[in-house]
Amino acid sequence: MASDTLFDALIEHDISRRDFIKFCTAMAAALGLSAGTVPRIAHALQTKKKPILLWLEMQSCTGDTEALLRATKPTAAELVLDVLSLDYSETIMAAAGHQAEKLLADLVKNHKGAYFAAVEGSIPVKDGGIHCCIGGRSGLEIAREVCGNALATFAMGTCACFGGIPHASPNPTGAVGVKEAFPNATVLNLAGCPVNAENITAAIVHYLTFGSLPAVDAFGRPLFAFGKRIHDNCERRAHFDAGQYTRQWGDDGHRRGWCMYYMGCKGPQAYQNCPTVRYNGGTSWPVGSGHGCVACAAPNFWDEMTPFYRRLPQPFGITVETTADKVGLTVTAVTLGGILLHAIARMVKHHTRPKGEAAQGAKPQEKTEWKGPSWHE
Ligand code: SF4
Repeated sequence: MASDTLFDALIEHDISRRDFIKFCTAMAAALGLSAGTVPRIAHALQTKKKPILLWLEMQSCTGDTEALLRATKPTAAELVLDVLSLDYSETIMAAAGHQAEKLLADLVKNHKGAYFAAVEGSIPVKDGGIHCCIGGRSGLEIAREVCGNALATFAMGTCACFGGIPHASPNPTGAVGVKEAFPNATVLNLAGCPVNAENITAAIVHYLTFGSLPAVDAFGRPLFAFGKRIHDNCERRAHFDAGQYTRQWGDDGHRRGWCMYYMGCKGPQAYQNCPTVRYNGGTSWPVGSGHGCVACAAPNFWDEMTPFYRRLPQPFGITVETTADKVGLTVTAVTLGGILLHAIARMVKHHTRPKGEAAQGAKPQEKTEWKGPSWHE
């Protein structure tokens, strides 16, 4: 028998009451809410009907779908395939051709304003959108219809949020994110390459519980997932502060798990919850597996965060949180050239961000705190 509520679906999957409460607690934690909200989340999930989700595939590599299907506890596959009512997904549904086209048209018509849309991939708008066609219609036209009639749209992954890799210069297809293509649509940007399944789950639970989408940052990304800087939660941060760096791939520092700042890690300028939520059922994430962060959730990351293996323009031993006293100590301890001293002076002069601001959930800034040398020094 088809289950109507999320709780029913979990029970059908032999998830115990205890596990259900654990799930609710995990969702409260993921959303940055207190334990006091767990009963409210549990009540919402036991009483609210499973939301309908229509998943569109635009210019993408399908990595976001892959990420969802490979997630584990609480199994995102269960959540997406069973707990959610995923009624349309070109990648995984059995229907095809005219049958699938009719299914989508009927769902939009019959559930107008009552379903969620998910878009994976960028939307090409150049030349009337002809660079991505499905069933003889442009992706632009299909997405306009589906997103325009949705309760809200989840932009899944950086391509759907900001255009991503297809948007990179010279952007031959005029690829843009969902919000840029349809400014009037209600869009939640779940950035990342790929999107993190835990963040999708938390966003949906937030809606079911509070009847609204979570608070967002300046880029339309939910603060619960993008409100903190990767560098501040990174497991290698102690090595950064101690001046213990990987200097070459495979060197002793790399094998010891030291900081990869000098190998180009963009963690100091990236905001996401990768270090705490991780991927693949919480087993690891790029920095955890020995590769620097590439700031994949940032707009224009492919153009602005490359070369990926060139370090950020920030002098040795100086962090954006560094006080003038620490700068003095560092300068004493390290022999620095005139260029570096000039850079320090500029940084101190322009450093206006209060210590700990990011950790307190202040408005995130992707690239504004660093006022030093040019990006590609
Ligand atoms: S620079 Fe990268 S590896 Fe080093 S502490 Fe920051 S986020 Fe972690």
